[in-house]
Amino acid sequence: MDQKTPEKFTFQAEIKKLLDLLSHSLYQNREIAIRELISNASDALDKFRFLSLTEETAKEEQHLEIRLEPDEENKVLAISDNGVGMTHAELIENIGTIAHSGSLDFLKNAAGDEKEEVSLIGKFGVGFYSAFMLADKVEVLTRSYQEESGWKWESDGTGAFTIEAQEGLERGTSIRLHLRKDLDEYTSDTRLKFILKKYSTFVPYPIKLGDELV
Ligand code: ADP
Ligand code: MG
Repeated sequence: MDQKTPEKFTFQAEIKKLLDLLSHSLYQNREIAIRELISNASDALDKFRFLSLTEETAKEEQHLEIRLEPDEENKVLAISDNGVGMTHAELIENIGTIAHSGSLDFLKNAAGDEKEEVSLIGKFGVGFYSAFMLADKVEVLTRSYQEESGWKWESDGTGAFTIEAQEGLERGTSIRLHLRKDLDEYTSDTRLKFILKKYSTFVPYPIKLGDELV
């Protein structure tokens, strides 16, 4: 396999439907995307913490944390963790080909009832794909604790995604949200702190906004 050319993959049909809903209909409650991505980061840290108790490869002592890195100039918000990361196969399986059960329930219930949107999102959680409520391009930079180098997953949330090899990554995952037009507010410290306070108070890991512990 020539790892210099990005490999192209097509999303599973259910995921396409979900992405279409998230990008075009369900826009009243975009901030929950931050909650979902932080909750995934926290899960990835849990997994690493567990593995570090059991597996030789993950044994190093490490400060586990979540970082929010707003880049105002380029209108990018990155949400990063130093958790388990994902291998090539895990990227395809976890965020490309299988819609998780929460997402599927959400889809079934969301059909034709936009007023229910807020409560439905709260009930089922749409997970990773909610990133596309905020971004028109999402990059996932990730290196698994099992691998020496990492990967870049990228998608504009329409039909397909690409994966290519990426050198120089630390262990863990960074979700880079290229913010949609008029969503510059998601690089504002004040706005982000408000959202963190609203949804992520009970996350059991330090959350940093830039260099500041929030
Ligand atoms: P759920 O969290 O309910 O499993 P999501 O759509 O939020 O569903 O995430 C799908 C999967 O993608 C997760 O189960 C996990 O395997 C993987 N994933 C998402 N974010 C991360 C991350 N930051 N680090 C490692 N794996 C992740
Ligand atoms: Mg999740």
